[in-house]
Amino acid sequence: HVRVRFAPSPTGPLHIGGVRTALFNYLFAKKHNGTFVLRIEDTDQNRYVEGAEQYIVDALNWCQIPFDEGPGKNEKFGPYRQSERKHLYKDYAEQLIASGHAYYAFDTADSLEHHRKDHESKGKTFIYNWHNRRLLLNSISLSDEETQKKLDNGEDYVIRFKSPQDQTLQLTDIVRGNISIDTNILDDKVLFKSDGMPTYHLANIVDDHLMKITHVIRGEEWLPSLALHYQLYNAFGWDRPQFAHLPLLLKPTGKGKLSKRDGDKLGFPVFPLEWQDPKTVDVSRGYREDGYFNDALVNFLAFLGWNPGTEQELFSMEALIEAFELERVHKAGARFDPDKIKWFNHQYMQMQNDDDLAETFKKNTPQLAAIDVNYVALVVGMIKERATFISDFWELSSFFFEAPQSYDEKAFKKVMNDDTRDLMSELAQVINHSSDFTVDNIQADVKAWIGDKGVGFGKVMQPLRLALVGAMQGPDVFEIIFMIGKAETSQRITKLIQ
Ligand code: GLU
Repeated sequence: HVRVRFAPSPTGPLHIGGVRTALFNYLFAKKHNGTFVLRIEDTDQNRYVEGAEQYIVDALNWCQIPFDEGPGKNEKFGPYRQSERKHLYKDYAEQLIASGHAYYAFDTADSLEHHRKDHESKGKTFIYNWHNRRLLLNSISLSDEETQKKLDNGEDYVIRFKSPQDQTLQLTDIVRGNISIDTNILDDKVLFKSDGMPTYHLANIVDDHLMKITHVIRGEEWLPSLALHYQLYNAFGWDRPQFAHLPLLLKPTGKGKLSKRDGDKLGFPVFPLEWQDPKTVDVSRGYREDGYFNDALVNFLAFLGWNPGTEQELFSMEALIEAFELERVHKAGARFDPDKIKWFNHQYMQMQNDDDLAETFKKNTPQLAAIDVNYVALVVGMIKERATFISDFWELSSFFFEAPQSYDEKAFKKVMNDDTRDLMSELAQVINHSSDFTVDNIQADVKAWIGDKGVGFGKVMQPLRLALVGAMQGPDVFEIIFMIGKAETSQRITKLIQ
């Protein structure tokens, strides 16, 4: 049974890269009828941000990536917040000490800094590992009695993993294939601290094991930790899950890693009304607030690092689940293209139901308060092919609801000739007398009249459009006339020529 997890740290609003990781986990789980777990990795209390967990949950819900197990939901492997599992980890750290895979270290921050500087001055890098652990203050360099005495005295300590010397580790990653690592370059990572808190590495491995995680799917930035994680599984004697590291997200320019600071549009999925700690970046808006459809965002994110191997680009969530394969995730960084997400939004706009769009449009637009929502829906159907966001609607359609406030100056000069006024007032009569008011009939009547007059088509149609729209753009003129009606059409024509 496939079990995967999304394991964010609640250190700020969920970044769009985190949503991509959650999505790939979700798609993989659903594809295999598996379970998608949300685990909150909040062991680093210094970086903890109030409200961040709620933001993560809200963002996942809005993106329609619901978790099967997690805080407050199907807690059979719970609790799912590491801070609530605190009591578990110490035993595991001690188990590694007992089996010789870990040791106590008492070095102060100052003394480590001193060693670092000292090495640097000799052009070397200080690594806390087999190379010099005997020269440092730990239970390998000290006698058992000395170590015990320090522990009894309540001195600050950490528990470090004892990374072996002269070994080559063979790691396997579903995306990257086989990787060999020389253990001599690894440092003895801290697993546990005397404040009673595990570090990420220990808590992550223990929880993946206890929660029976079968596949670890996460961002490439965790690839350097894979060697340690392999060794931890070996040291505990546990079966390890399979790993898949997703490619980096790159800036829109394609150069460098996408960061939270790459423009206010890139960072975040949703923004709650009362964010407690905006800390480092402007998080006053998210994709939701900017008018993106959640399924368009999901479709866009699915293509950051994966593709179906065909030309098809539009995928519903069901279709993504069906098509998704970890084997098709690529290694190369995925460029985050803001134009592409707009393209997706435009595509999804066309698939939306006009009534739903009309409801939102009406709700967001004070000028529409008194307008019948069915009329709004008809208008939406005519203009949405030119819209990327619902917030584009008013500009594209205001003339369906109210007479233009002004006329495009250039166009006005161009179309207002000596005979325009006479032609237009006659045209107003023609339209007024048009019987059986349908788009086709209005068009036929107007065209017949233009024929009788023997004037150019544009000579009539251009001022007419200007009268109705205020500019030389917009949908079919006869459709506009049909929508706004005879009386409003005459009034607008009269206003143009007065
Ligand atoms: N807590 C880590 C993070 O914030 C989890 C990494 C992992 O999935 O192992 O991304």
